[in-house]
Amino acid sequence: MKNTVEVFLFVDALGWEIVRRHKFLADLLPYRQRVDMQFGYSCSAIPTILSGERPDKHGHFCLFYKAVDGKSPFSFFKYFRWLNFLFDRGRVRHQLSKLVGKLKGYDGYFQLYTVPFDHLAKLDYCEKHDIFVPGGLAPVNNLADVLLASGLNYHISNWRKSEIYNFEAARKAVTEDGAEFVFLYTAGFDGFAHDNITDDALIGGRLKWYEQKIKELYAALTATGKEVHLTVISDHGMTPLKGTFDLAGALAAAGLVWGKDFISCLDATLARFWFEKPDAADRVVNALKRAPGKWISKGQCKFYGIDFADHRYGEAIFLMDAGVQISPCDLGRKPLNGMHGFSPEDKDSYAAILSNTDFDKVQISHVADYFRLMTRRIGQLKEQA
Ligand SMILES: [Zn+2]
Repeated sequence: MKNTVEVFLFVDALGWEIVRRHKFLADLLPYRQRVDMQFGYSCSAIPTILSGERPDKHGHFCLFYKAVDGKSPFSFFKYFRWLNFLFDRGRVRHQLSKLVGKLKGYDGYFQLYTVPFDHLAKLDYCEKHDIFVPGGLAPVNNLADVLLASGLNYHISNWRKSEIYNFEAARKAVTEDGAEFVFLYTAGFDGFAHDNITDDALIGGRLKWYEQKIKELYAALTATGKEVHLTVISDHGMTPLKGTFDLAGALAAAGLVWGKDFISCLDATLARFWFEKPDAADRVVNALKRAPGKWISKGQCKFYGIDFADHRYGEAIFLMDAGVQISPCDLGRKPLNGMHGFSPEDKDSYAAILSNTDFDKVQISHVADYFRLMTRRIGQLKEQA
């Protein structure tokens, strides 16, 4: 029997709807199916994929949350709130994020986006540390922990590098260093799809580039004489822009004051609230009565794996209708042509798994199930060794 190499290739935002419409790699990867996304966005989905657990277990749901007991690592921003307008442009914010991340010793994915400075002073941040390395989701085990314990020769991409670099590093890891298991991370499609999801020709062109890169990689790996199990996975899809809603404006118009009556984090598709006064919850609900969206019930939080006993990520969560973005929000001043993070049941939200090998009876209905498939394959590689 030939030795096997397992390659799991993550393509951010390669949703089922896109895969289906463009017949992405239909020839090379005939085992394919639609997968439920994790409620939230990439920072909820990727830890879920890397651990097989839901956010209320691994602790990662949204980027920002209300600082516990008012102890924000960003409290110094309150002195700079008058300078907020100077730092409002994306590139300047990006540099500022780099600086703050460095000063704080964060090695995770860290971005301040467009969160106003006076808000930052009351908030905390989720992904301070690298979740891809061993211990990165401790006390929950992640993929790197499992691989390290397995004793296999493995390669996990560096998420800070470009996808061209990561394709090449994966090829070298197998062909030159003998890696048996590869987790190849690419995030470029997400940014491209945010801008171009409404242009099918552009999306198709970009997908052709991935098809070519993946086929080149597959050819290089099979040339080693090993059997290559290639599985492409994604975290969610991309929903075209249908409209916007000024949620902060609606709250202000109702006389509600951020920091006094309530604290919120406005992701592009979710508004999460903590109430600072006894009547604030009712007033916020009233103010959003005509907003295009719905409140997420306790039962839904349980179902989606986002039921935090300490309400760390919000005492109440408002989800926008599919395609309608909160604008402006804390992650951007302007809406994008496409966004993810709407209802997991919307057709454009679904993730996808595509493989040249069947799923060994592993039931894959949710992105968390990729982890079970990966750990099963790791077990098989160990037996083979
Ligand atoms: Zn994105």
